[in-house]
Amino acid sequence: MVEALIVNLGERSYPISFGSGLQADVRTKVAELTNAGRKVITLTDQNIAKQHGPALQAMFGAAPTLVLKPGEETKSLAEFGRVLDFMAAQQLDRTGALFAVGGGVIGDLGGFAAASYLRGIEFYQVPTTLLAMVDSSVGGKTGLNLAAGKNLAGAFHQPRGVYIDTGLLATLPAREFAAGMAEVIKYGLLGDEELFARLERAPLTVASTGLATVVRRCCALKARIVEADERELAKEGGRALLNLGHTFAHAIEQSAGYGTYLHGEAVAIGLAAAARLSQQLGTISGHETARIEAVLTAHALPVRLRAPLALPALMTAVARDKKVRAGLPRFVVLQKIGEAVTRHDGITPAMVEACFREAGAVDSL
Ligand code: ADP
Ligand code: ZN
Repeated sequence: MVEALIVNLGERSYPISFGSGLQADVRTKVAELTNAGRKVITLTDQNIAKQHGPALQAMFGAAPTLVLKPGEETKSLAEFGRVLDFMAAQQLDRTGALFAVGGGVIGDLGGFAAASYLRGIEFYQVPTTLLAMVDSSVGGKTGLNLAAGKNLAGAFHQPRGVYIDTGLLATLPAREFAAGMAEVIKYGLLGDEELFARLERAPLTVASTGLATVVRRCCALKARIVEADERELAKEGGRALLNLGHTFAHAIEQSAGYGTYLHGEAVAIGLAAAARLSQQLGTISGHETARIEAVLTAHALPVRLRAPLALPALMTAVARDKKVRAGLPRFVVLQKIGEAVTRHDGITPAMVEACFREAGAVDSL
């Protein structure tokens, strides 16, 4: 059992527990709530319900459970409505609590439903993908997709507790595990040189004994950043640093069509591109770029596009990125391995194009 981590956000502070086999802890929390006369409901998806039936039973007993279809399409207004209706049908009052057991989709949708129902009830997270463990369990971003784009509706709603049971990852498809590793490598690059060195020495696998410790390090780093800039208002640095590689990644996901690359795969290509951008700025060397690519590759991640994409479409997507302020793209670049900064100046479209070209983009398809 790894020591719990407290995310310090004043009265919205909450603990994250880490380990392998946290079912008893969840069970205790559920019993505590129900013994106090409070209703508990669970949200999960079909894959998790199928693979982890006994674990769900052990944690939640007979608590009402809504099982949704797996996949990004579930983060929709229609499914959001279904979750709210389910809460109402279960006659949840303001003291009710929602446990979201799943990957990013279930966590984001469940969190937003908890934020909205009766103007907000408590929610708890039991993330089941590596990506959700290191990413969405800290920070309180919840939401869903609209026809016009991803994550366009949502709210900040901090969970009251997060249970990160790395034992649940045993059934996660290898490709999904690798995708989560892209975010883990991102944390090493942006703020934890030792973590990067550890991944460089030996690739992390689902069977690694240090898995829970590594996940904790990622959450601790994210917690520090979120604590300092909960609502992403910092002019420099702050929460934006978590977007290392993501301006490139979002452009790739959008140009290739959502679903072609898993988010983490696009992030891996984006991290390699961010390294090349940093190299052009002279902050890191070609040798360091090569080390970064080697770590990504060792974790079964792509560093180049699997099929060429057109540069103009990629550049249009970059210009539309949320981080564009006053027409100037703000990129996150590396000062060194283990330290990232936000940069407004000195980055030209030609430099960004060169990064995409090295990733395999072409003038036209
Ligand atoms: P993410 O956390 O990457 O945003 P999703 O919520 O879309 O992703 O989950 C990715 C896929 O993995 C989904 O098909 C989901 O049902 C499945 N999944 C999630 N957790 C597990 C698990 N522990 N074992 C097996 N499959 C899982
Ligand atoms: Zn990401």
